[in-house]
Amino acid sequence: MNGPEENRGVSRMTIPLDSAGREPETLLAVEELKKYFPLKSGLLGRETGCVRAVDGVTFHLQQGQTMGMVGESGCGKTTVGRTILRLNGEKSAGRVLFQGREVYDLDRQALRSLRTEMQMIFQDPFSSLSPRLPVGEIIGEAVREHHLVPKEEYSDYIDQIMENCGLQPYCKERYPHEFSGGQRQRICIARALALHPRFVVCDEPVSALDVSIQAQIINLLKELQEKYQLAYLFISHDLSVVEHISDTVGVMYLGSLVEYGQKKDVFQNPLHPYTRALFSAIPVPDPKIRKKRILLEGSIPSPANPPQGCKFHTRCAWCMEVCRKEIPLRTEAEPGHFVVCHRYGGAL
Ligand code: SF4
Repeated sequence: MNGPEENRGVSRMTIPLDSAGREPETLLAVEELKKYFPLKSGLLGRETGCVRAVDGVTFHLQQGQTMGMVGESGCGKTTVGRTILRLNGEKSAGRVLFQGREVYDLDRQALRSLRTEMQMIFQDPFSSLSPRLPVGEIIGEAVREHHLVPKEEYSDYIDQIMENCGLQPYCKERYPHEFSGGQRQRICIARALALHPRFVVCDEPVSALDVSIQAQIINLLKELQEKYQLAYLFISHDLSVVEHISDTVGVMYLGSLVEYGQKKDVFQNPLHPYTRALFSAIPVPDPKIRKKRILLEGSIPSPANPPQGCKFHTRCAWCMEVCRKEIPLRTEAEPGHFVVCHRYGGAL
């Protein structure tokens, strides 16, 4: 979760066993991933610093599972997803292993074929769909490009994908503006699934939708996951949705994962002060239960100039002297439950 030098002496990530007692297949391993964007100024465009958008992120994702990623706006969640998919140019450091292969070592051809296995669903379904193409074309464009099905089966294949995603095949000649927001998101899901991916980055896929439509899309994603054994990286700021859909949860703050573990462990026993503050805002559907809200003071610091020591120390109610000077280590507080905080571990 922190830089390589920051994780010395930290144990190997514990992977929970499946119902048969086996270690499930690791589909995606992200290790100490960093993505910095240079800051340039002056006429010559000299580099004067960098924005540490992703600053050491480590997690593993198993086949057929969902990792929920939460955090405030601007904490780097989307950049993590895009960097995993190699949509942001070169990474700054770390590794992205998909089925054991380093994604950043692949040549053009190998990356092109990997694109069918790693897909992304965007937050705004309208702007991510071409307004000039009918829906059938939008869904099938990449299928044709990658020659995924024989020509004679193409039309039936698109019909089938549309049906699987709750869209009527007779609508395939219509254009995106003729559909509602929920249907447009279904089109985006159908477009991603048409390529038979194994891993999908879902970047705030329901936040632009009404609550009733959100539930339909979440249920659709779950159904499709069961059917095709998909793995999702589900990025959201809606904690209730993340709790509903995820198997594991990562909490991001200022480009780093500050807590990561099984959903049940993170939600029932949040350890990091930032996670506690975030989760204290989840509404409880019982009027008798009064929850104490932890209010965070100050705003999120700039990723171009993050605080020294623990990045959260400027807003942490438990801040100690050591927090201002030393970067905390990632610690496995309980099996498979990691936290980056001096309250639970040592420092460099
Ligand atoms: Fe708070 Fe210190 Fe833990 Fe950072 S390391 S979260 S400042 S207690």
